[in-house]
Amino acid sequence: AVAAPAPSDDAAHEVLRRVFGYDSFRGEQHAIVEQVIGGGDALVLMPTGGGKSLCYQIPALVRDGVGVVISPLIALMQDQVDALSALGVRAGFLNSTQFPDERRAVEAQFAAGELDLLYLAPERLRMESTVALLGSGRIALFAIDEAHCVSQWGHDFRPDYLALSVLHERWPDIPRIALTATATEKTRDEIITRLDLGGARRFVASFDRPNIQYRIEPKNRPDRQLLDFLRTEHPGDAGIVYCLSRNSVEKTAAFLTENGIRALPYHAGLDHRTRAENQARFLREDGLVIVATIAFGMGIDKPDVRFVAHLDLPKSVEGYYQETGRAGRDGLPSTAWMVYGLQDVVQQRRLIDSSDGDAAHRRQLQLHLDAMLALCETIDCRRARLLAYFGQPAQSCGNCDTCLSPPESWDGTVAAQKLLSAVLRLKRERGQSFGAGHLIDILLGKKNQKVQQYDHHELSVFGVGADLRDTEWRGVVRQLLAQGLLAVHGDYGVLTLTEASDGVLFDGRTVRFRREPERPTPSRAARNA
Ligand code: ADP
Ligand code: ZN
Repeated sequence: AVAAPAPSDDAAHEVLRRVFGYDSFRGEQHAIVEQVIGGGDALVLMPTGGGKSLCYQIPALVRDGVGVVISPLIALMQDQVDALSALGVRAGFLNSTQFPDERRAVEAQFAAGELDLLYLAPERLRMESTVALLGSGRIALFAIDEAHCVSQWGHDFRPDYLALSVLHERWPDIPRIALTATATEKTRDEIITRLDLGGARRFVASFDRPNIQYRIEPKNRPDRQLLDFLRTEHPGDAGIVYCLSRNSVEKTAAFLTENGIRALPYHAGLDHRTRAENQARFLREDGLVIVATIAFGMGIDKPDVRFVAHLDLPKSVEGYYQETGRAGRDGLPSTAWMVYGLQDVVQQRRLIDSSDGDAAHRRQLQLHLDAMLALCETIDCRRARLLAYFGQPAQSCGNCDTCLSPPESWDGTVAAQKLLSAVLRLKRERGQSFGAGHLIDILLGKKNQKVQQYDHHELSVFGVGADLRDTEWRGVVRQLLAQGLLAVHGDYGVLTLTEASDGVLFDGRTVRFRREPERPTPSRAARNA
């Protein structure tokens, strides 16, 4: 037998074992904890599920005073405090959901030195009374959770986070630890500047989740594709299916149930009790599938989620990573499976167009979407792409769809020119703009009612695209959108040219596309069945 390493007997290990019941630290947890116990600042970039909480909870218990944790996840505070209380840790929180007497009780505990950890919503720090309260007690450390919220360019910006610089000004000697699962270089730099963490030691964990297999397939008939995927690869397994709308959550859950798969819906439109019950059943029972909007999963800690399936496109790579990251926390093989199609691009674009916020904000959303589309359309290793997005270069993984069956690419320059010139001619000659379906009908030379109604069979581009199938044209449109060579707008998904389109139309810019896989056309057969 291999001799077990001698158990460490420093204070951090003692608390790890006695309070949390774990034998050893994971990854860089120990180094992080020691840094903060020693009074230094730390910036921790660690993927979801990596074990960030212990990084501040243990120093808070080892050091004198209260660990003050700034967190925007107000909805999770009660759970976190309950979980800590169950371990015998004295924890409390202050946020806007509390009754004044509850708040006053926590404040009194803090002042009396009867807390180990205090969770604070960031907006609390804008109040002079909170700053005064903190000034009245002894503070062990400040933990700034979800630190990427300070980034104005991030997907999760919270203006209240900008005010967190007050911590360092007011309490220069108290160690601070900022934590996030978002690791793009830009975000990292912004956290350091805005929170004045230039002197902090940085701990960057690997974002790779080697046991997760990433796969993104063309969306055809999503319900059937999902069913096939579950039946062939994950029969009886627990997993999460993400949909964009409540309506599709309901429909998909019903469809799976009809087909003998135990599935429960979860979305914000369900009453609180049903939601809590479905979540509890998912955590407790084996082999349940939960069909959910992205509202589901915050703080979900189920180790044996064998798959995460997306029936709709996430808004950002960060979102995709976080949602897929809920699979395989036990380290066993798991699948992140997604179907994606042209309609997803149109729909996401519509959401951006109709979002609140100024032009800069919308541009930001578009950049996030573009990065997500690039991941979908890549012919390189998905994992390497994903990790590169988080600033971690990697080799091809051998365990994603593009590694396992490398997609072919083809020279799509002529096809792109045909499609773009159809868009251009309609605009120039007729002053019209249309969605993908109608444009493709024109290229295919389909003399249907709408084509005739507009006399579009008389356009010179009519029928010039008969060499490609309808699905291939949809792939062309999708990939032009992903490459920024085409834009889509509004409720009807109207297509327009971009500045970059000119290069393809007039300057000999070449375009390569990922080849659409030959599908066994289940659509027709299944529809008639
Ligand atoms: P994060 O905040 O990074 O998403 P958590 O702090 O919630 O991750 O930790 C994820 C899970 O891993 C939790 O169930 C936690 O108890 C567990 N965990 C963290 N550190 C350890 C460790 N050293 N040993 C065993 N389990 C751990
Ligand atoms: Zn790969």
